[in-house]
Amino acid sequence: MDLSPILNSYNTFIETQLKDRFFKHRDLVSIISKHASTAAQEVVGHSVEGRELILLRLGNGPMKVFLWSQMHGDETTGTMAIMDLLNFLKHPAFASFATEILSSCTLYLLPMVNPDGAERFTRRNAQQLDINRDYLSAKSTEAQILKAVHANIQPDFGFNLHDQSDLWGVQHTTNPAAVSFLAPAFDEGCSLNDNRRHAMQVIACMKASLDAQLPGKMGLFDDTYEPRAFGDNFQASGTATILIEGGTMIGDVEAQQVRKMVFGAILAGLKAISSAEYEAVPLDNYFNIPKNSKTLFHLIIHDIEVNGLKTSVGINYKPSPGVGGTQVDRFYTIEDIGDLHTMSAHEVFEASTLQLEGSIVYDEPANFSLMRGKEPVLSFKNGILQSKVIF
Ligand SMILES: [Zn+2]
Repeated sequence: MDLSPILNSYNTFIETQLKDRFFKHRDLVSIISKHASTAAQEVVGHSVEGRELILLRLGNGPMKVFLWSQMHGDETTGTMAIMDLLNFLKHPAFASFATEILSSCTLYLLPMVNPDGAERFTRRNAQQLDINRDYLSAKSTEAQILKAVHANIQPDFGFNLHDQSDLWGVQHTTNPAAVSFLAPAFDEGCSLNDNRRHAMQVIACMKASLDAQLPGKMGLFDDTYEPRAFGDNFQASGTATILIEGGTMIGDVEAQQVRKMVFGAILAGLKAISSAEYEAVPLDNYFNIPKNSKTLFHLIIHDIEVNGLKTSVGINYKPSPGVGGTQVDRFYTIEDIGDLHTMSAHEVFEASTLQLEGSIVYDEPANFSLMRGKEPVLSFKNGILQSKVIF
């Protein structure tokens, strides 16, 4: 399908209460309450710290589609995209589109599976567990709830919404991966069965629908079997399971462009399922999607003299949640030194006319300044950014 007319109107249905990645459960509850007349709502359990997990149901079609987001508390684009979807589905300009989806499918939405993690802006829940590695042992309250909801619904399709690291690019390119997909394996041999094939075919439709917006900027996530993960187990249970990973776009620090693309991917998937058009799609359209590759740095400095050699330096930061879970703190490390011309970065500095003060040491915290005369252009102290001049 051609997503352009819908994405061009995105600003008319975007959920404006969500503006960055740091919203909390109370914000979600406030938004969901606006949809009480169009979406059935049920509290299906509580997080460790007592926050409600709310399942929404829309439509009355025979195909059951279950979307869940934010098992990892700091991966928020899927939740934002689901909130945009709720607005879209009652937008008068797209009523016929919504009717097609809601008469073919019953949608079950479980946004923010990990509200305690969202509160802190951490991947893990309040028990410090990774919910997406807890399918088998189900020690975490949230894993128990997600398993039970899935078992009750027994969905035909499942959309598992995550965000990947902003250092993934698309293999053999210098493009960042804005969105990645995977039809998770259900066994060590990455075998195929009907529902995994269906997941691949729907993904191929999603990818084709976003090609105009993201040429060369979508990838396939690693399909190594993970017996502890939800997607792999849901796939094994007979739900055609689709992993969508929000990725990164240059300059899109708060992932608002990525959010729009994840919304587009979800919508294209629902359209493909509603129309059954995915059934005719060759599997090669899935297997030909390029793989993800770690080709990005947060910063690259080219033409810099290190130990008497003109070379390039790659620097990444490790984000950690700031106080109140409403920002991230960044700790910068020298990740690579050498020929980095096949790599790209969120920010690139050319140092040929700059002077280096301090030293650059591989695998050590960034602790140097690049100077133009007496003015620092880029400066770090013990891993912490001090100043940066944007050109
Ligand atoms: Zn995740």
